[in-house]
Amino acid sequence: MSGETLHVHFLGTAGALPTPHRNPSCLMIRRGSDTLIFDCGEGAQQQMMRARTGFTVNAVFISHWHADHFLGIFGLVQTLSFNGRTAPLTVYGPEWVHECVQTIRHIGKFNLSFPIESVELADGSWVRFDGYTVTAFSAHHGLPALGYMLEEDKRPGRFDRERAIELGVPAGPLFGRLQRGEPVMVEKGGEQRVIRPMDVLGTSRPGRKVVYTGDTRPIPQRLATIAHEADLLIHDATYDDTQEARAAEFYHTTAGQAGETAALACVQALALVHISSRYTDAQAHIACAERKFSGRVVAPNDLDMIDVPFRG
Ligand SMILES: [Zn+2]
Ligand SMILES: [Zn+2]
Repeated sequence: MSGETLHVHFLGTAGALPTPHRNPSCLMIRRGSDTLIFDCGEGAQQQMMRARTGFTVNAVFISHWHADHFLGIFGLVQTLSFNGRTAPLTVYGPEWVHECVQTIRHIGKFNLSFPIESVELADGSWVRFDGYTVTAFSAHHGLPALGYMLEEDKRPGRFDRERAIELGVPAGPLFGRLQRGEPVMVEKGGEQRVIRPMDVLGTSRPGRKVVYTGDTRPIPQRLATIAHEADLLIHDATYDDTQEARAAEFYHTTAGQAGETAALACVQALALVHISSRYTDAQAHIACAERKFSGRVVAPNDLDMIDVPFRG
């Protein structure tokens, strides 16, 4: 539970067009043994091979139906089928998800070895997993577009071992029961008494939070709430700050605007993605974001991985 790893694999960080070094959008988030894909641009499955992540995908979330965000599903399901997958695969996304999945089922002359389901999400929809929730929120991209927040359940507060012993709880299995939230009965000075978890546990601690905007114009007010104190905000930063008018025209965000949002939301770290093919590197993007946000700023290369640790 609380000891699960949380890894974000950047499998595709390009803007609308791929480059020799960047594939179209694809993020893989691994939490413990779960693998979720957020957007699945063309070539995603080969990026999984290059990153050696394997193909054990539990669910696919699509931010919007621009081709650079979903063309990779077609190849991926072929490979999963070829590998003999039998477990159902659910594709989540904004409106048109049913049509897209229907197309996947019927394109070409083959039968998939597993069922593929579609679930339409809208602003505020959430999907529950074991120990965490993925919540969709509206982005601003000129068509139905969603961002996603992955948030873990709260963790129990710290266990005060000394206090427990002081209250007469012997070290051993009763500690575990208290940590799991169960009251226990102990004997002290010939008297039986109940020790409640609240007697020995501190206040509960937040779980980790990772937010992915998908393609969007700046939505700082919305993200100030949704991404508040997120461990990692992965934000559209298609352009550097010299291209603000172009960013607005095409419903994207500049790196500086992403930095402003990150500052407003008090996040720990900002990852800039969806980098336009006009740039050969993202140094200018990083500099623009760092002028607005004092936390950690990165512009991951394809196949980079960020390990999101627990705080405190
Ligand atoms: Zn895009
Ligand atoms: Zn788009």
